[in-house]
Amino acid sequence: TEACLSEIDTAGALNAFVHNTPEIARQQAVAADARIKAGDAPDMCGIPLGIKDLFCTKGVPSQAASAILNGFKPEYESTVTTKLWDAGAVMLGKLNMDEFAMGSSNETSTYGNAVNPWRRGNEDTALTPGGSSGGSAAAVAADLCLAATGTDTGGSIRQPAAFTGITGLKPTYGRCSRWGIVAFASSLDQAGPMTKTVQDAAIMLNAMAGHDPLDSTSADLAVPDFEAAITGDIRGQKIGIPSEYHMDGMPAEIEKLWADGRDMLRDAGAEIVDISLPHTKYALPAYYVIAPAEASSNLARYDGVRFGHRAKLAAGDGITEMYEKTRAEGFGAEVQRRVMVGTYVLSAGFYDAYYNRARKVRTLIKRDFETVFAEGIDAILTPATPSSAFGLGEMTDADPVKMYLNDVFTVTVNLAGLPGIAVPTGIDGQGLPLGLQLIGKPWEEGALLNQASVLE
Ligand code: GLN
Repeated sequence: TEACLSEIDTAGALNAFVHNTPEIARQQAVAADARIKAGDAPDMCGIPLGIKDLFCTKGVPSQAASAILNGFKPEYESTVTTKLWDAGAVMLGKLNMDEFAMGSSNETSTYGNAVNPWRRGNEDTALTPGGSSGGSAAAVAADLCLAATGTDTGGSIRQPAAFTGITGLKPTYGRCSRWGIVAFASSLDQAGPMTKTVQDAAIMLNAMAGHDPLDSTSADLAVPDFEAAITGDIRGQKIGIPSEYHMDGMPAEIEKLWADGRDMLRDAGAEIVDISLPHTKYALPAYYVIAPAEASSNLARYDGVRFGHRAKLAAGDGITEMYEKTRAEGFGAEVQRRVMVGTYVLSAGFYDAYYNRARKVRTLIKRDFETVFAEGIDAILTPATPSSAFGLGEMTDADPVKMYLNDVFTVTVNLAGLPGIAVPTGIDGQGLPLGLQLIGKPWEEGALLNQASVLE
């Protein structure tokens, strides 16, 4: 804990931690020490963690990296972080992210972007750690903490993990409680571990997962021992390679990474099978209707009354002006765009054309996966991202769709509610990490972690 706290002090330029909690960390570390000495120490005991700013942590600023939550200190602790503290883990502080988890580069944060500790060759250009869990990824990659929590609505654990050379697991929807995590798109959001190794991801998921009566979508299922599932034996398993993930203009390096991954799994005794997920091309448009629709509804609660920021009002301003001014000041441009898109697709005249259509497409995407799993496929291998980490500012031009395309390999997993893991498997010609994604069957994170361990 002390080593991490001093690393954090010297790594300000990464802008990964946005709020440090050294007093809490030291208290928890002393308590963990006592448990270890008493012989009552779960695996997470004494492990120093960073927590994404999307998680409510009692009495500690929890702002979802938004100005609208300036000064907000929750009265309650999220279920996932409660479970981690109960398991003896130590909180070093809160981690940077895109505002309300909307973004792929950490550049929508009210704190300014986190920076990727990796550089291209000898260049000085600062690169994105990815997003939205960019602070989590940068902190783990730079050894500021041993692991971090992330959340993933359309790729926000897996893409930053791939951009920083770490492991990131999005569990099955419902595996971890969403209670006390600031909601972005409730039917897609899921918390997960961001770690240095697959084994660490298994250990941390065991501490985070489990049924919670406070979240009606959390599954009432036993949590198996995920670490014990990692045997490295994948003989006879069928790994699907979806033809639709060969995107036009995909860099040769990504194709090669993918081919190398296939070889590693084949060498370990798996059978590689070409498969088709025919509705893949509709996933991004469906996601960018459903996620903003749910966000526009979830973000209605930031009204200047209940949480955080309230605008200064002029004489004669009424409640409408209070809402308008507060929301205009408090929400950044990307969040405002999502609220507007979401409100539009849910409006009476457009609901069927956009929102309902997107929901139907979502069902078709889910069925694509169900079909291949029913045909005996055990997991699906794809690239995690269409490129390695890009430069800060490189994607933030007038066309937001350019940034949205980053999620092309990851959003299908959220739409279908499946578990997905990004594992670092290569370095590109510029010296930057690249990751592959494995997509598993629902509730089979153990099998997924085992398959992923073969790629490490
Ligand atoms: N980049 C995607 C978005 O901006 C995914 C974000 C996430 O998973 N939280 O919506």
